[in-house]
Formats: sequence, structure tokens, C-alpha cells
Amino acid sequence: MTRFYELCRTLSDLVFPRLCPACNRHLSVEDETLCRICWLAMIDITKSEYCPLCGTPVGPHLLNIRGCPSCPNIKIQYEAMVRTGLYASPLKEMILNYKYHHMQRLDQPLGSILASAIQGQSWCRELDALIPVPVTWFDRLKYRYFPVGLLASCVGKKLSIPALPLLKVRGKKQRQMELPESKRPANVRSVFHLAKHANVKGKTLCIIDDVATTCSTLREVARTLKKGGAGHVYAAVLAKTDPRKSIY
Ligand SMILES: [Zn+2]
Ligand SMILES: [Zn+2]
Repeated sequence: MTRFYELCRTLSDLVFPRLCPACNRHLSVEDETLCRICWLAMIDITKSEYCPLCGTPVGPHLLNIRGCPSCPNIKIQYEAMVRTGLYASPLKEMILNYKYHHMQRLDQPLGSILASAIQGQSWCRELDALIPVPVTWFDRLKYRYFPVGLLASCVGKKLSIPALPLLKVRGKKQRQMELPESKRPANVRSVFHLAKHANVKGKTLCIIDDVATTCSTLREVARTLKKGGAGHVYAAVLAKTDPRKSIY
């Protein structure tokens, strides 16, 4: 950080104190996006080994291409998934603030960590496009914007891969997080549709979403894309819930 930049930031912080988007503590001049405490916590929740099919934390001895004991006992339609961390502090608060408290500026830090996670995968260079999971019009009015779409655009710019909102959602009765795990697959069954102009035949795609709990949304989106002719489908989410904990 240059001295001039440091001086400007110090003066700016005096007039408009910057707050950590996860815990609301005042940020110091050295802090970029998160305070030091949240930054250390972020390192902690993003460093664990996880299952490449469902994102659940596993030891290295359980890591194999067939998944882990927590994998859903049904056919997984995507080839692999990547996630930046567990759905825990401070990632959880950042996602909630981004989606529900209109902190659209968090698209940059969240987009950066998701882009880095995708970049670390062997399949990153094969990707033709990123496909954000769509939301209903009702949800779009409530959020006042399309958080996952904005996130996908941000990731796409960083990776030079187009983010294409090619999916629509129709007939979804309830939001997934309002339902028990057993009812989530049926709630999203056949609700995603490809837009009329969409051509995904033979393409390698990566689904983008914010949080995965049971992975039923990712599976259903992947099924829709494969039905439309997609060659390979991967998935990338900001966070995966820990199956041993309640989430909201
Ligand atoms: Zn903080
Ligand atoms: Zn698994």
C-alpha cells in the first residue's frame, strides 16, 4: 500500500468508517474487505478437504471420484463440484448480507474467491460458459436484483468465461431453505427450463449457485442442461452446509 493511498484511506475512514461485512467491526487501514478476525476464520473454513461430488468435508482417505458416505444415494448428474468453503462465519454472513441486505458490492470479493476455487480445478480450462441458477420473479423482486447472476458475471469476467443466464424457473412452490431435506428434490423437480434461444449441445458448462445444502438444485439444473444436450456439466458454489448442523 503506498503512503498516499494509505493517507487517503485513513482520511476517508475518519469521515466514512468502513465496516467488516461479516461482523460489523470497524476495519483498520490495513484491512481490505474483512477484519483480521474474520479473515482468519475465512481461512479456517476454506482450507478443508471435501468430497468432489457433494462438498461435504472428508479426510483425504475418503476422497475418491465415487464420492463420500454423505453423498445422496441417487444419480448425480454433474461430473464434479467445487465450493469455496463451509456455510459458516464469516462466509455465511457475507452471503446473507449480499442476498438479503442489498450489499451488492460484495459481488467482487465473493466473485474473487469463487473464481479462484474454479481456477484450481483441472476442468476449468474446458469450460464454455457459466450458468447461474435462476430465481423466480417473486424472489427477484424481493432481492431487488439477481444475486447469483451478478456473482456469475463477476466470476466470468475474472476467468474470461461468458456467464449466460440461459435457464428459467417455473412452477417452484417454495424456497428450498424453507423445506426439510426430504422434500427438497420434489420441490425443484422439472422446474428449470432452457430459454428458447439457448443452444448448449456438446458444451461444457459450470452451474453457479450461492449455497448448496442437499445439492438437489444442482442435480436438477444439471439434469436440465444434459437433457438439452450439454456434454459435461460441473457445479461451483460459494458455500456448502455442514450436514451435521442446522443452517438458518
Ligand atoms: Zn469481521
Ligand atoms: Zn459426497
